[in-house]
Amino acid sequence: MTSNNLTVRNLAFINGNYTAAVTGKVYPVHNPADGTVITEVSACDAIDVRCAAQHARAAFDDGRWSSLRPSDKKKRMLAFADLIEANAAELAALETRNTGKPIRDTETVDIPKSVNMLRWYAEAADKIYGGVAPTAPSVHAFISREPLGVIGAVIPWNFPLYLAAYKLGPALVTGNSIVIKPADQTPLSLLRVAELASLAGIPDGVLNVVPGSGESVGQALGLDPDVDALAFTGSPQVAKRFLAYAAESNMKKVMIEGGGKCANIVLADVEDLDRAAFDAAWGVFFNNGQVCSAGSRLVVEESIADQLIEKIRNLTANIRVGDPSDPATEIGAIIDERHLNNIERFVRGGESDGAILVCGGKRLLEHTGGWYFEPTIFDHARNDMDIARDEIFGPVLTVIRAGDAEEAIDIANDSQFALGAALWTQDVTKALKYAKQLRAGQVWVNNYDGSDLTVPWGGFRLSGTGRDKSLEALNEYTGSKATWIEVAR
Ligand code: NAP
Ligand code: MG
Repeated sequence: MTSNNLTVRNLAFINGNYTAAVTGKVYPVHNPADGTVITEVSACDAIDVRCAAQHARAAFDDGRWSSLRPSDKKKRMLAFADLIEANAAELAALETRNTGKPIRDTETVDIPKSVNMLRWYAEAADKIYGGVAPTAPSVHAFISREPLGVIGAVIPWNFPLYLAAYKLGPALVTGNSIVIKPADQTPLSLLRVAELASLAGIPDGVLNVVPGSGESVGQALGLDPDVDALAFTGSPQVAKRFLAYAAESNMKKVMIEGGGKCANIVLADVEDLDRAAFDAAWGVFFNNGQVCSAGSRLVVEESIADQLIEKIRNLTANIRVGDPSDPATEIGAIIDERHLNNIERFVRGGESDGAILVCGGKRLLEHTGGWYFEPTIFDHARNDMDIARDEIFGPVLTVIRAGDAEEAIDIANDSQFALGAALWTQDVTKALKYAKQLRAGQVWVNNYDGSDLTVPWGGFRLSGTGRDKSLEALNEYTGSKATWIEVAR
């Protein structure tokens, strides 16, 4: 089907074909910018997952992909990335329509970064080496990395295609088959690129996309006996469910990228307060704060707090919130009404807990029928308030003032999450000392959220157990196998 010159696919993609759910059920997918229904998508359930997993198993077992020469996999994966790039404008428009993200972000971040991710892993396909163990000379023991088999992937809605690429790249180049479930709100970009994978020569059954709810499709993937490993990005609450599914079924490996409540610490000796203010604002307001690594806690030394907050407030006042399809828009819509209500509940809770609202705090643009919220700043929060402890996943900055650097580090580490933390100081000794003390999967010094696909991504504590990106991700999707050959007795 086409809608406003966009190709919209609304059926599951199983074994190389677009396929309706066995029950025939569908559910509406919305445009967050105005609340309208874009299309109705197959509401798959356990029966469809079983079918997809069996096709993925067959594809893996007969070697149509897993046994291809690595250089051949590389060629096809590069062709897949090229096809996404060739359709980038359309995919960016589709992603914007389905997520409410500004078109300037989908055109410059979501789609090109997905292409880069797939290309980078494609290039790695024929550069993965095994090893030989230093055994006695009478033995030749070699170690190879083997694909895990069928990967179940379950992803959230905040970067639908990009987070899918996090999984597809390393999972596919290492020879696995995959069954992937997009978030129910945002299946459209992934459903569209599935056919591009086929066109690029990725064989039927190797890449399957099964849309539907977490309770049905997600749970079925978690329990499926043919799924060898589960790659999950989402909230810790759901991550725990996957650990339970694995325990109840075949003890599949579970790789978790969970949530965050990242602290951005600005010490009094920061060199460039304007840059720190800019990064503090965009570190939390980018993508409406719907980012796992959002710098949602600003921990600032008391002596510079007033000055810094004033700068952030001024920047925030100039942010353009509005129609995501307008290239001038900097912040678009919130993913859905339920999530908007959650964000609003946190903000009301922050007020009643005694934090001081500096700006924002209200819904916006209600006449559009879409779901918008003002970029919001709370000052004088305490780290035991819900707005400091829980992941709001919205455009809300919680400022906590600290008496000194030591107290700031303690506040930062006092969290159930440990995804990212930033530290601003011009003192290299403090930078090294505190970066070491910060408990987080990534620490940024004098920047917020610096990242590259060459650098591993992941967290500790409830922020997860897996590592996406970089060569480390290749280890996640493979297991080490030792072959022991006696060459002489
Ligand atoms: P979520 O509610 O945990 O959902 C994530 C996925 O799990 C969705 O596809 C969801 O399906 C599915 N799911 C929900 N309940 C399930 C169940 N009982 N069994 C199996 N699957 C189930 O997260 P979200 O609201 O989509 O996304 C926001 C979260 O993702 C935040 O916590 C954020 O920090 C995290 N995140 C982490 C990273 C990272 O790299 N660490 C990156 C991005 C986002 P449906 O929604 O379709 O029902
Ligand atoms: Mg959801």
